[in-house]
Amino acid sequence: MIKFFIHTFGCQMNECDSERVAGILSGAGGVPVDRLEDADVVVVNTCAVREKSEEKLFSYLGRIALLKRKKPLRLGVVGCVAQLRGVELVGPRLGVDFVLGPDNYAELPRLFGSPLQERFVSTEWSTAWRETPPGLIRRESRTSAYVTVMEGCNNFCSYCVVPFARGREKYRPLPSVLAEVADVAARGYKEVQLLGQNVNSYKDPETGAGFADLLRRVSEVDGIAWLRFLTSHPRRFPAEINRVMMERTNICRQVHLPLQSGSSAVLKKMRRGYSREMYLDVVTGLRGLIPDIALSTDIIVGFPGETERDFEQTLEALRIVRFSNIFSFRYSPRPLTRAADLVDDVPVAEKRRRLAAVQGLQKTIQLELNARAVGQCQRVLCQGPGKKTPELMSGRNEANQVVNFLSGRASCGDFVTVRITGFGPYSLRGEEIAP
Ligand code: SF4
Repeated sequence: MIKFFIHTFGCQMNECDSERVAGILSGAGGVPVDRLEDADVVVVNTCAVREKSEEKLFSYLGRIALLKRKKPLRLGVVGCVAQLRGVELVGPRLGVDFVLGPDNYAELPRLFGSPLQERFVSTEWSTAWRETPPGLIRRESRTSAYVTVMEGCNNFCSYCVVPFARGREKYRPLPSVLAEVADVAARGYKEVQLLGQNVNSYKDPETGAGFADLLRRVSEVDGIAWLRFLTSHPRRFPAEINRVMMERTNICRQVHLPLQSGSSAVLKKMRRGYSREMYLDVVTGLRGLIPDIALSTDIIVGFPGETERDFEQTLEALRIVRFSNIFSFRYSPRPLTRAADLVDDVPVAEKRRRLAAVQGLQKTIQLELNARAVGQCQRVLCQGPGKKTPELMSGRNEANQVVNFLSGRASCGDFVTVRITGFGPYSLRGEEIAP
């Protein structure tokens, strides 16, 4: 029996992949353990999107190398860094025994029955969709299930390593998506999150049906109370999606729409394929049909050549759109990307200042938005006791905000009605009211 431990860096796509990796290992007879120290096999699922995430990976590998001196242990690196660096990772320097790219997880059962010393690397791309049977996926959450609908990206934004780490776009057949959604509904999941690097470029390989069709079909599966999707590209956000969202009440009124910069000049250098005005038009279209929609975004500060004026335009865009949440980062050059050839000319101290300014402004906006929620009654999907406040239950509302609330009866997986009584910049507080 092999005891395995998985450590995941990065985004929801990686969390979702780790659930597949755990499923494949369990299906082959492995047993998951909660502590690294108890494992025979450690799998590190990696993120290459930012320099910092790679730095964290190497420091984590150093920690495992120390453990390897004390006990027999096999260490594997999977995911984006595995794909990019491949064989370079294997060997005594980092202590890595096997490396698998995102298309190669089906090879994990090689660990069973092979000698401890065997090393292997597999980073071949597959052009066909690789199916993991839904029953094999070991989901972390008991309330919300990730369902991948596409992988990879054809956009080649100038700063982004994803097309190199995840390959070109591949779309999952629509019947297979529907089958997995039906499976999770039958297992009692209340919420489904459709995932892909570019969900709105989805095309069913058989019929050519687009993302709006997929969204509608998934929303019609019995038992799915809430449906979300991530990530959408602003360049291809057709009005059809807005209409489906308006018509289907189980699609949450919430969209993550990465802006990256509020300056058209910077967006052009980023090769994002839209201008500031085009982005704001998409927002206007969404809010025209669904006025209370919650929008979140990604922002990069300090892209090569970003002037003070460009940066001010990003701040202005935040003031105009008033996002409910943002993920903001300092630019760092990534290997293989076009922007890596540009002069990284915004000094680190200035990038830090800009990041602090973005985050400070956003905090003020969120406090203002959250203050307005006080007194409202909101539907919340309970995820169990709060991590920091175990005396309260914790869940998410339709806008995907954390809501911590007093309750005498709610348990994980229940929908409850919560009256909002307080707020902070990043969460709401409240109390359950009688149904
Ligand atoms: S759309 Fe751009 S930022 Fe998003 S994954 Fe593709 S290349 Fe990266």
